Amino acid sequence: MIDPGEGAARRLSNMGFPTGSIEAVILTHLHSDHIDGLGGILLQSWVGGGRKHPTTVYGPDGVEKVVAGVNEMFLVDSTFRTAHHGNAVADPAGYGAKSQVVALGETEPTKIIDTETLKITATSVSHAPVYPARGYGSTIQADLSASAVTRFRTRNS
Ligand SMILES: [Zn+2]
Repeated sequence: MIDPGEGAARRLSNMGFPTGSIEAVILTHLHSDHIDGLGGILLQSWVGGGRKHPTTVYGPDGVEKVVAGVNEMFLVDSTFRTAHHGNAVADPAGYGAKSQVVALGETEPTKIIDTETLKITATSVSHAPVYPARGYGSTIQADLSASAVTRFRTRNS
């Protein structure tokens, strides 16, 4: 997921998108309208997917403060969710996020995710006075026959 603005989790859920399948969040920059839905996405992807480890949130310098703040903001609620749903659904080990600063190398674009099915690169972009800001490019190789994408398409076709 890239830049979850306010209401992102609710809108995805209303569309039938399996928010539990969100494995990472990528932030281009830290303007509020690009991050004010981060808490909802992290909570829904945690409880909706039974995640066993925190989600990685990639972003420019400052992402560590944003992630620490969101983790702290919903920490009390996370204990209620675990008490209500149990560890199989809301495992405390999977709560929240860890930050990963997207540092650019000497040659851009810089790879930040490089798996068989997903490659994402980052470059610096101008968005003054916001600094730093990032642009991302991606290549996705998805098996559409047996994935969350298939379930999403089926529900929304
Ligand atoms: Zn902006």
